[in-house]
Amino acid sequence: MKGAQVYEGKAKKVFATEDPALLIVSYKDDATAFNGLKRGTIEGKGAVNNRMSNALMRLLERNGVPTHFVRELSERETLVKRVEIVPLEVIVRNIAAGSFAKRYGVEEGVVFPAPTIEFSYKNDALGDPLLNAYHALALGLATAAELEEIKALSFRINELLRAFWAGCGVTLVDFKLEFGRLPGGGIVLADEISPDTCRLWDSETGKKLDKDRFRRDLGGVEDAYREIMARLEGQLGAEA
Ligand code: C5P
Repeated sequence: MKGAQVYEGKAKKVFATEDPALLIVSYKDDATAFNGLKRGTIEGKGAVNNRMSNALMRLLERNGVPTHFVRELSERETLVKRVEIVPLEVIVRNIAAGSFAKRYGVEEGVVFPAPTIEFSYKNDALGDPLLNAYHALALGLATAAELEEIKALSFRINELLRAFWAGCGVTLVDFKLEFGRLPGGGIVLADEISPDTCRLWDSETGKKLDKDRFRRDLGGVEDAYREIMARLEGQLGAEA
């Protein structure tokens, strides 16, 4: 049963349950960008993000990646393991886009010879600054062993998701992950994997099927979320 609200983020609310080891995540339609400077609503987003994230976490679990996912409760709500979030945003990139393209003066769309990874410090007050693994150690955000585990899991997740999305006719450009520590120790994938946290381009046309439509005022935001969900469901149906 759903207990008291323990946290409200930009896109999700988190509730306690009768079991201290489990939480309920509830996905909202609220959308923010640029560290909360841009705000809006994407109708139906909460349901898409919940169902997509769960489907992808199940896929990862089947392939040996531990996640916080326990069970989907409804269109917008999911039971997850309670973890202590490692305060890092882990970004894996296959193709230059967004802040990488801007920071390093690279044209969006340039394909990297190999996937690359970066960390930022999950800290709204500081604007989530970019940091390297040594900074993370200096700040005590994670241990060296945890950082190695996070890197290895992130690249493995990239391979699995890239192959899955390729089957949907979609190119996985980049994405953000968050990890958590289980009470008994061990790192698991937490947070969400959704069009809010991934760049997903149609492989044929390059059409953006993700939150960049909202961030960049490209229009057709709701349609893009519906389309990417339909692609995922089509592929899961084909695999079943
Ligand atoms: O903006 P940037 O290019 O750094 O984003 C890289 C990837 O990380 C994108 O897929 C974006 O959706 C995701 N991201 C996120 N949350 C953030 C920053 C980036 O999900 N706070």
